[in-house]
Amino acid sequence: MKICITEYLSIDLDRERWECRRCGHDLGAARDNYKRGLLVYDRDPREIHQPLIDPTKYAYTFAPDPAYTALLEYYCPGCGTLVETEYTVPGHPPVRDIELDIDSLQEKARAWAADHGGTLPDPESLHRPAHARHQHKHS
Ligand SMILES: [Zn+2]
Repeated sequence: MKICITEYLSIDLDRERWECRRCGHDLGAARDNYKRGLLVYDRDPREIHQPLIDPTKYAYTFAPDPAYTALLEYYCPGCGTLVETEYTVPGHPPVRDIELDIDSLQEKARAWAADHGGTLPDPESLHRPAHARHQHKHS
């Protein structure tokens, strides 16, 4: 039984494992922080938030100071998808932003499946349009 958690994360409730929704790569135990299974890029925050005034003239440029701000990007090791981005302080361990009650999810999934033919629908099938998309041409 797989359930979608975020745009790029799902959990296999039978195996209790995080998975990448794009490529199915195993990202670790569902009871642990999924970020432990991802690649981390500790990016200089000034690359994203560039100084608004000349840094050669001013100490404070309205850009985040990397001594106080860490910008961490988490990528799937299987397909390279950017799964999550977080701002924190340098040296801080990965922030645990998702902590689910796996036992409760398993119980609810089993109950739902029992009422709907014994299985959960494929999570990816739930996000497809129920009917064909409108097609039009520019000519
Ligand atoms: Zn992936």
